[in-house]
Amino acid sequence: MTTEQSVLNAAWNAAVEAQNTATAWRAPHVLMRPSLMPDGDKWSALYGDNIMQGVVGYGDTPEEAMADFDKNWLSQTIPARCGDCGRAVDDDGMALDPTGYCFTCKAD
Ligand SMILES: [Zn+2]
Repeated sequence: MTTEQSVLNAAWNAAVEAQNTATAWRAPHVLMRPSLMPDGDKWSALYGDNIMQGVVGYGDTPEEAMADFDKNWLSQTIPARCGDCGRAVDDDGMALDPTGYCFTCKAD
């Protein structure tokens, strides 16, 4: 039976679905269209010339690779690099002195 409430519910559901669709269209992998390709036993989604200079996501399925790409697109930052050797500051404890050189290069 069609009631005023059922019409309101249907309108609400349609609005929610439209919102979900609009959100999906704004996903980074939809906008940026990274290249999807097999990489070993994973799928990779790569935007840019290579993984060192671009953004990449990996997953067991294309959908997981795109989801990982989206996560990285929204969070990946450029690590600080030594002004001499170019090594990146990362989790292995490498650090730069205040002038922008790693302590190995600074000692030279
Ligand atoms: Zn260095």
